[in-house]
Amino acid sequence: MAYFIDVILPIPLQKAFTYHITKAESDFLIPGMRVAVPFGKRKVYTAVVCSIHQNPPLIYEAKPIYQILDNHATITTKQIELFEWMAQYYVCTLGEVLRASLPSGFLIESETIIKSANKFNDLEISLTDDEFLIVEALQHQSSISIDEVVSILEKKQVLPVVNSLIEKGLVIVQEELFETYKPKLVKYVKINETYKTEAALRELLDSLTKAPKQREVVLTFFSMSARSSQAIKMETLKAEINASDSVINSLIDKEVLKVYHQKKDRVKYEGNINTEALVLEDFQQTALQEIQKSFETNSVCLVHGVTSSGKTEIYIKLIEAVIDKEQQALYLVPEIALTTQLVERLQAHFGDLVAVFHSRYSSFERMEVWNHVLQNTSKGRIIIGARSSVLLPFKNLGLVIVDEEHEQSYKQFDPAPRYHARDTAIVLAHLFTVKTLLGSATPSLESYYNARQQKYALVEINQRFNKVQMPEMELVDIKDAHKRKRMKGHFSLRLIDEINEALGNNLQVILFQNRRGYSPIVECLTCGHAPQCPNCDVSLTYHQYRNQLRCHYCGHHTAMPQQCGACGSHHLDTKGFGTEQIESEAKQLFPTAKVARMDLDTTRGKYGYQKVIGSFQDQEVDILVGTQMLTKGLDFRNVKVVGIMNADSSLNFPDFRAHERSFQLMTQVAGRAGRTDIRGKVLIQTFNPDHNILQQVSQNNYYEMFAQQMNERHNFKYPPLYRLIKITLKHKDFQKTNFAADWYATSLKQLFGDSVLGPEFPPISRIRNQYHKNILIKIGSNQSLKKTKEAIVKINNSFQSVKDFRAVKVVLNVDNY
Ligand code: ADP
Ligand code: ZN
Ligand code: ZN
Repeated sequence: MAYFIDVILPIPLQKAFTYHITKAESDFLIPGMRVAVPFGKRKVYTAVVCSIHQNPPLIYEAKPIYQILDNHATITTKQIELFEWMAQYYVCTLGEVLRASLPSGFLIESETIIKSANKFNDLEISLTDDEFLIVEALQHQSSISIDEVVSILEKKQVLPVVNSLIEKGLVIVQEELFETYKPKLVKYVKINETYKTEAALRELLDSLTKAPKQREVVLTFFSMSARSSQAIKMETLKAEINASDSVINSLIDKEVLKVYHQKKDRVKYEGNINTEALVLEDFQQTALQEIQKSFETNSVCLVHGVTSSGKTEIYIKLIEAVIDKEQQALYLVPEIALTTQLVERLQAHFGDLVAVFHSRYSSFERMEVWNHVLQNTSKGRIIIGARSSVLLPFKNLGLVIVDEEHEQSYKQFDPAPRYHARDTAIVLAHLFTVKTLLGSATPSLESYYNARQQKYALVEINQRFNKVQMPEMELVDIKDAHKRKRMKGHFSLRLIDEINEALGNNLQVILFQNRRGYSPIVECLTCGHAPQCPNCDVSLTYHQYRNQLRCHYCGHHTAMPQQCGACGSHHLDTKGFGTEQIESEAKQLFPTAKVARMDLDTTRGKYGYQKVIGSFQDQEVDILVGTQMLTKGLDFRNVKVVGIMNADSSLNFPDFRAHERSFQLMTQVAGRAGRTDIRGKVLIQTFNPDHNILQQVSQNNYYEMFAQQMNERHNFKYPPLYRLIKITLKHKDFQKTNFAADWYATSLKQLFGDSVLGPEFPPISRIRNQYHKNILIKIGSNQSLKKTKEAIVKINNSFQSVKDFRAVKVVLNVDNY
């Protein structure tokens, strides 16, 4: 009797690959274990077993495996099921999913480069001869490849040795990444309890007469604590009195002052809220009960709750219930780098049960989290993570929460698997027959539509915590302001007034400008009009090389107009203005204010975001200028004014979701204002104050936005009423790209007729020396998605078999929005 295994190799193969194993191996192996296998001429890969059987492959002779790398499954059977769903739904290979999921330390292969972890001095750890040889080699050479290890050890079967060194922490896999989560600690001072009585204090001051500087510090400390009930930072105390470190240190030595550290975020609870005993308000309690009730009948519940309604607090209660049962909770967030505040909040509540998972963490850290989750240890109970954390090896999942479910960053665009983490999370929860909670102040149309269709339950929260009012919204007509010379640069006088008032009251300001460097659209500088495609309801993009305006969905085009179609003005502009310009104007207009900027440029470094967010939170910055990043769930306490510099730029973005996204973006930025007692004020500068979306934002009317946008989606055949699959062809030769795209589109059109749009060049048609051309397929509700995909795969296979097209790269993107 012969024995075989099917394995998933971490490379884009259409099918699982079969290897030969011995009887003993077949008794030992279970699905999910890793094995080292030869592949191709002389490569070694780590592969994952998906089945064990006795059927030899028909068309090739199965090679034996090199060896088994695990003594327990590294991947769970539930994961394999999920990966199969993803591969099928997103039309990609299991290998691609595997690679996206496993930290690279688990997937050593011929080409992996290893480095010393610089722990070699610690040679308490016992090493085998082989391990020693590698360790020694790494003392002479900064890095070596697995192939080199093969020649050092003079044998093929080296992966177990390397794995063992990785597990011992002596060797790491070379990667580009690295970013570790560290809660920021802040130094505070307090006075020794014994001096709290007046008599004791007087005695202390008397004893300090010979040390006038120290005496002054004590006096200052008391006057500061009289002024405010907030805890006093070391830094603030020093600044207030201009005292040297030595003066303060001698007070610390005398145990007059005490130093203590706090995680940043806890500070705001100091003295007023005790997180442990946080009690939900009535309306929050009601929402919680509604959610729990809905879970009796629905597997997914959407919470539509206005900003600052306390959704996070409700999630915490739901997580508590799961933890009590020793189950795991997955808490998905759109952008982990921006969620320091959230992580600290959850850690304050759940302590070490919280683990953070992020693809930018080192492989070693990710392997640690992986193992905790796999074994359901206490450290793997609550996973806060960005999209890739849906791919973790959950053992006993109890609940999935997808916060800010509308965020686009849940969708992976490149490389495959091009999955949407929210949708994948729902499937994951389903595999465990547990519930998914989606939360947002501005749900995506598809989720809200699903709720309306009763596919999801719906819970709405329309109040803010602590009766905080929604911010006051004002639309500022900058067309009119320009005309009447009531503008300074990009600032209307209205906005300037409000900023001055806020600054005068020691309150902060956020200025929002849409992301820079996006598609070139044309905007009239006089009236703000941007030419639209008559077929697709998106803005046309400017193509310089032909001096044309084109729709990148359907290819409709016109010559670049000389004057504005709406108002006749000749002042047409093809580019917007960026955050940098706003920052420098703000510095000039408000010379005494401290201005900072938060965008991709300023936050590139390791702790870039944390730094900017931290200094704004600590009120070291008065005016924060930023892009999209400002919208993602940040909770600031002292912001009075939010200014949206130019609402039109996001409205005119050439995408069918531009209006929906603008609504979400502006509502979310607005939500950063006035989250405490002072009511926030939001000013939206626009050329088109009558624009539906702006009216809806300023009236906080999600429902009207939803109804109107759904109508558009219906008319122009877009999601959620239709499904989209985008096919991108790439090649370095312009003609070949054209030719291939025409061939592809023609084949598709034979099957699907008018539902096929394009081929069309995207606004940026050449990227890294390759031309891109897109084909879009719209799939109506009466058409089978599965069959459509099967047909596409067939066409794709014939395409690939044409010799001429072999070098053309094809990218399939399901739900590409
Ligand atoms: P959302 O996620 O809906 O925007 P958050 O959960 O961030 O709202 O709540 C906003 C702020 O209000 C947070 O600082 C939170 O700690 C506080 N908060 C919410 N609910 C309560 C409550 N019941 N008791 C005390 N503080 C609360
Ligand atoms: Zn105009
Ligand atoms: Zn069009």
